[in-house]
Amino acid sequence: MSEEQVIPPAARLLRDFVNTYEPQVDEESLTAPDRLRDWFAERGLLPPDARLRSADLAAAVTVREGLRAVLLGHAGHPAEPAALRRLDGVLAGVPVRMAFTVDGHRLVAARDRALDHALAALLDAVRQCGEEQSWARLKACARDTCRWAYYDASRNQARRWCSMAGCGNYVKMRRAYAARAGRERKAAGGTPAEPKGAAGR
Ligand SMILES: [Zn+2]
Repeated sequence: MSEEQVIPPAARLLRDFVNTYEPQVDEESLTAPDRLRDWFAERGLLPPDARLRSADLAAAVTVREGLRAVLLGHAGHPAEPAALRRLDGVLAGVPVRMAFTVDGHRLVAARDRALDHALAALLDAVRQCGEEQSWARLKACARDTCRWAYYDASRNQARRWCSMAGCGNYVKMRRAYAARAGRERKAAGGTPAEPKGAAGR
């Protein structure tokens, strides 16, 4: 089954949020506060007329890149401490509380501010992933130019790249190339060229 068929909704929300920026092609979806609002409104997490400011967008992007660092950690790479500190810094200013209803419980914003509602929805998704045991399956691709978030549905949860056919092969090829180039350098003392045909995820 494909990733789309097996990924639980909470994990999908977080994956899709992290993927609003695609480092490989430097493509940013959240280019304005209204775009950020629309992203959450489309998912029923903010009213369509909610007002967000530039500072809110900056905070959301910081949270997104912090989450990307965490997901990279899930893929077996050390998360960048500075990204985690920035994430912590933003979340320190966002009060959330647990709300209990007849349907269950969830984390909600403790203040009525659009950004707080949006970030509380993300934090509640983290909570839900933890309860569903899908949190550790949510990862970011270990290829340094990719960093795409994906859901690892494999039995042993050992996937480290967004797709073995793309990044996995690329990373392996580059390692093999580096090893070979190293051997050749030792033999000849030359500087190797970049590997060819290595683009794509
Ligand atoms: Zn990748």
